[in-house]
Amino acid sequence: MPATTASATSSRPPALGVAEARRAILERLSPVTGWERVTVRNALGRVLAEDVIAPYNVPAHDNSAMDGYAVRHADLAPGAETTLAVVGTAFAGRPFSGLVGAGQAVRIMTGASIPQGADTIVVQEVTRSDGERVTIPPGQRAGQNLRRAGEDLALGGVALPAGKRCGPADLGLIASLGIAEVAVHRPLRVAFFSTGDEIASIGKPLAPGEIYDSNRYTLFGALTRLGCEVLDMGVVRDDPAALETALRDASAAADVVLTSGGVSVGEADFIRELMNRLGEVAFWKIDIKPGRPMAFGRVGDAWLFGLPGNPVAVLVTFYQFVQDALLTLSGVRPLPEPAIFEAVCAEPIRKQPGRREFLRGRLSAGEGEPRVALAGAQGSGVLRSMAEANCFIVLPESRGDVAAGERVPVQMFDGLV
Ligand code: AMP
Ligand code: MG
Repeated sequence: MPATTASATSSRPPALGVAEARRAILERLSPVTGWERVTVRNALGRVLAEDVIAPYNVPAHDNSAMDGYAVRHADLAPGAETTLAVVGTAFAGRPFSGLVGAGQAVRIMTGASIPQGADTIVVQEVTRSDGERVTIPPGQRAGQNLRRAGEDLALGGVALPAGKRCGPADLGLIASLGIAEVAVHRPLRVAFFSTGDEIASIGKPLAPGEIYDSNRYTLFGALTRLGCEVLDMGVVRDDPAALETALRDASAAADVVLTSGGVSVGEADFIRELMNRLGEVAFWKIDIKPGRPMAFGRVGDAWLFGLPGNPVAVLVTFYQFVQDALLTLSGVRPLPEPAIFEAVCAEPIRKQPGRREFLRGRLSAGEGEPRVALAGAQGSGVLRSMAEANCFIVLPESRGDVAAGERVPVQMFDGLV
């Protein structure tokens, strides 16, 4: 464990910066072993376990990028029109089989193979033709409007690297190579449960003092989007024996265990004692708002993330720490660059220097420059503003108050929430 490991008895764990905590997590993780072959469609969202190699050139043959005429550039007069005899037509999928001789041209469609002898395509729009002859204006460039064999991908080249998470364009690229199946990492298995005596599951009326569990649904959504196999283990009481059973079961069944609630400083010390007995878990106070307490470590053979209980803090810590950890374990490399850029803040924001704050924002195109406004109330239990937001406004540790019109960094949700 990193030097930040807190013993079961220490009451004041050291505070960690966001970057430091991310590093401490990511440097310990390596991808799960185990892979399978899947068909192209089933590769969507999956992570390639080996390079996809081009089995031939793409495109396979030199072909025309335009509708027009295939000609021999040497036949064209440099400063005057040239008239050539049209000796046939080349269609995509139905090539012209003859040879283009001196003084000859072949009508050609986009995607058709370049007939032997021709080296240049003249676009139809600039020519005149009576069907038997075609007149070409001067100023044509040798080799123009050709797509060369292997221009997209050369035979034997890496079409897609291992570690790439397949999106729609990747499926198309794999199919364009005539490849029907690819090797992908097995999906990550993630078990999660909520903790708290006040947490009730949907489907029954609330008893006094109870609230409905939202974290399991947020986590279900975020994990499913990431392509994880999810194992929802329900709500667990703040009871040592119940928690021990849940942690043992979860860590036996999954690669990663996520819990929410019960990790605050001073709260439920038995969770710390328990996690440290079952594994090796550090309790971190992170310089972040919302989401200050978080636990990370191993329980049995699984990685454990003990997230805070507050519904917004769950999403903030998930997005800042857990998502890249899960991608790393799933075999993704390199990790995608975080989509952070600057926008003009539409309103003042109060902030004390010290912690990195993640505020829920709404980004819009603005006039000339993107603008961002706060998306409603910012309490760490207020999920509605999270649902209405499309980005985080990220205020760095050292930053104080923000005035309206100042630039602030924003981090797009990128489909997470
Ligand atoms: P805790 O970290 O357990 O002290 O929880 C912090 C706050 O988040 C408390 O107000 C809890 O009631 C609330 N909370 C904890 N878990 C959940 C959950 N699964 N769904 C909704 N709210 C929760
Ligand atoms: Mg609790």
